[in-house]
Amino acid sequence: MSTGTVTAGHPEPTPRPGPAAASEPSAGSGGGAAPPPRIDRAERGERAQVAVDRLRTAGVEAVAVTWVDNAGVARVKAVPLGGLVHAAQWGVGTAPCFDVFLADDTIVTSPLIGGPTGDLRLYPDVERIVPLAAQPGWAWAPGDRYTQGGAPHPGCQRLFARRTVAAAAARGLTLKAGIEIEWVAALAGPPGEEPRYPTAGPAYGMQRLTELSDYLRDVLRALGEQGLTVLQIHPEYAAGQFEVSVAPEGPVEAADTSVLIRQTIRAVSARHGLRVSFAPAVEAGGVGNGGHLHLSLWRDGRNLAHGGPGPHGLTAEAEGFLAGVLGALPELLVLGCSSPAGYLRLVPSHWAGAYRCWGLENREAALRLVTGSTGERASAANAEIKCFDATANPYLAVGGVLAAGLAGLDQRLALPPEFTGDPAQAAPGAVPRLPTGPGEALAAYRRSALLREALGEPLYGAVLAVREAEREQYAGATPEELAAATRWRY
Ligand code: GLU
Ligand code: MG
Repeated sequence: MSTGTVTAGHPEPTPRPGPAAASEPSAGSGGGAAPPPRIDRAERGERAQVAVDRLRTAGVEAVAVTWVDNAGVARVKAVPLGGLVHAAQWGVGTAPCFDVFLADDTIVTSPLIGGPTGDLRLYPDVERIVPLAAQPGWAWAPGDRYTQGGAPHPGCQRLFARRTVAAAAARGLTLKAGIEIEWVAALAGPPGEEPRYPTAGPAYGMQRLTELSDYLRDVLRALGEQGLTVLQIHPEYAAGQFEVSVAPEGPVEAADTSVLIRQTIRAVSARHGLRVSFAPAVEAGGVGNGGHLHLSLWRDGRNLAHGGPGPHGLTAEAEGFLAGVLGALPELLVLGCSSPAGYLRLVPSHWAGAYRCWGLENREAALRLVTGSTGERASAANAEIKCFDATANPYLAVGGVLAAGLAGLDQRLALPPEFTGDPAQAAPGAVPRLPTGPGEALAAYRRSALLREALGEPLYGAVLAVREAEREQYAGATPEELAAATRWRY
């Protein structure tokens, strides 16, 4: 296949305003080491009241507050607008057993999290609330989960991501991130029906854009009204497949944005009689939906992927960071390519990055270095993790990558030689494959002291329980059965 991949430009960091994350010197912050972010209820109430006034003017009547579970599914609790101030001050009740939900809603258990008892509080991030353009009367906010006593819930994936961002900040580093969203649009039909596509136009074809121009314009319009800066939208390779990318931002914000974009595309699609799939394998054997993660590392306003003595201008810090990520990719797949269905996509010659190597603009490398146009490199150079997909919990994906990268930076690791060309054409074994199934990735995850420490025991164990259960669930499934079982879950 041949595709025209988006290279998200990385302009100067412009962090969104938001509640300060707890300062934490080590990426391996675990579940309890960080000083708990303070819940200042008076201050939260004031900020929420300002938001309520703004939202009321925008016609908002209710706010959906999401978190993403360990299976990669966005779950939600909603409050009427009149309840937002209370929710911001005291949170909304939500059960801890959501941490051990599978993508098909089966509930399992894990050593430290699970079971029918207990409750948590889900706090909407008031700074990120946005009216939803394609769901009139609704706004959305991502949520953080705390205990009823006001301590950070050790299973909260978004707080985990915040801790790793704080660990980077403690080293004087900031990150810019962006998650590319690929999706397949299909004609709405009964649940079990095989996908039928709204256009038969060719890959990347103008025909596809023309036939669905109202739809794509509405996607763009909705994303724009929600404050997102779209870099590019285009038809992708597979039948009915499209991609959108947006401007980079902080890692937690980029993870939030990926949740927002997907629900926006889903809502716009429904208005056009379409249903969507972000699943890695809509059809077994085809080209899948990726969820490529772009990252750049900055110090004092300077992009560390540019102007250094390392390969293609990498500074020693950027090289160490990327070497740490490359080395940890097998276990990171548990966080970034979560579903067993991800391995239907993660195969050679599908531009999914199935090989554990890195290369400049190499779309078969799991780690693709992107430098951008010659004159733009200082702002645009970044690395793209291609092997991830949209079954990832995006907070776990960015947090895991940051933890691995910071460990590599601290250890001053060097990258192995670059691979140029198609690894599938190299001598057998010359370029290592990434895990070819969930069992291999889980074995690496079990051995990973790095992820165990970074995630903390409760979250590490809950992820393991969910991933093991889904591996067993589909162990005997044919590719067609696995694609059909997961197609409409993401
Ligand atoms: N759809 C491909 C994937 O599964 C990616 C194509 C591209 O390079 O954008 O990741
Ligand atoms: Mg793409």
